[in-house]
Amino acid sequence: MTNTVATELTRIADLLKKGRRFVIASHARPDGDSIGSQLALAYVLRGLGKDVVVVNKDQAPPAILEFQGVRDIVIADRVDGAFDAAIIMECSDLARTGVQGLDQYLVVNIDHHPGNTGYGQINWIDESAAACAEMVFDLVKALGVTPSVDVATHIYLGILTDTGSFHYSGLSPRTFDVCRQMLEAGINPTLIARQVYDTSSLGRLRLFGAVLQAMQMGVGGRAAVLYLDHAMAHAAGGAYEDTDGLINLPLTVKEIQTVVFFKRGDNDEYRVSMRSKGNVDIAAIAKEFGGGGHKNAAGCTVTGELGALQKTFLSKLDQAIALSEQNPQP
Ligand code: 5GP
Ligand code: MN
Repeated sequence: MTNTVATELTRIADLLKKGRRFVIASHARPDGDSIGSQLALAYVLRGLGKDVVVVNKDQAPPAILEFQGVRDIVIADRVDGAFDAAIIMECSDLARTGVQGLDQYLVVNIDHHPGNTGYGQINWIDESAAACAEMVFDLVKALGVTPSVDVATHIYLGILTDTGSFHYSGLSPRTFDVCRQMLEAGINPTLIARQVYDTSSLGRLRLFGAVLQAMQMGVGGRAAVLYLDHAMAHAAGGAYEDTDGLINLPLTVKEIQTVVFFKRGDNDEYRVSMRSKGNVDIAAIAKEFGGGGHKNAAGCTVTGELGALQKTFLSKLDQAIALSEQNPQP
C-alpha cells in the first residue's frame, strides 16, 4: 500500500467512527462485488451503532439476491435526507451509480478500477485490489472490527465474483490471505459458490444455448461475438436480464482470446460487455466508447446499427490482440 492510499484509508476510518448516518451506494446493475462490498461495510457500521442506508439504482442479479440482507437494499434513483457522508463503492465516476442526490453529501469514493475520476472529497483508489471487497476488509480492520460470518460472507462473495472464481488477472497473495481470513471467520465457500453459480433455471441454460448457437467468430477464431435481444430470450424461455456468466463461456475455448457481447436495449442502443485473456487489454476499448472496466473485463453502452458496431468492435479487438502478441503474458 502506498502512503497516500494508507492516509486515505485512515481518513475514511476516522470519518466513519465520528459520523452517525451514512448512505452507501454502488453502480447501476450491481454485481457480487458491489453488493458484497456495500453490505459488508453496512453490517460493520451498524454493529458500531451507526444508521446506514444501502441504496442502488437496480436490483441485484437473482443468484446474489438470496444472500443475507440483499433484499433490504433500497432501490431508488434519488437519495435525500440527512447523512454525514455518502460512501460510493466500485464507481469510476459518480454518474455510474444512476442515483441522483449523492453529491449533496460529503462523498467518499472507494474503488479499485483503473481510470477512476477522483470525484470524491476523499478518494481511496487501490488498483492493486482484485475486488473492492478486498479494500473493504482493510477498512474493517482499520475500524478495529473482527468480521462476523455475515460480513465475511459478503467480502468473500465480492472477491469470488469479481475475480471470475479466481480466474482473472489482479489476483495477489493478499487476495488469498483475505479469503483465508474469511474462512477462519466461519464462511462456507462451497455453499457460497453453489449459491452464486449453481442455482439458475433451465430457461437460463436454454437461453445460454441459443446465444452460443448463434455465436460468430472473428480475428481468425480468436474473437467471439455474442448477441441477444428480447425475442431470442423469449423464444428460449429465459429472462433477458439473467445473463451473468454467459460472456465467460467462449473463453473456455483455448484459441479464443476475447469475447464481445451485444445486448440489445431500446431502439438502436446496445449494452456491450467484453472479456479477454492475459495481456489483451479491452479496458481501453470500452473507455474509447464512454465506458470503462479492467484489462480483462470491461463494458460500455453504444448506439448504432448492429452490423457496423460488430465490425468496429472486431477491428478494435483485432488491434488489441495484435498488441498483446508483441507483449505476451499468461
Ligand atoms: P460487465 O461486462 O460485467 O457489465 O462489466 C465488466 C467490468 O466493466 C466491470 O468491472 C464494470 O464495472 C465495468 N463496466 C461495465 N460497463 C461499464 C460502463 O459503462 N462504464 C464504466 N466506467 N465501467 C463499466
Ligand atoms: Mn469490482
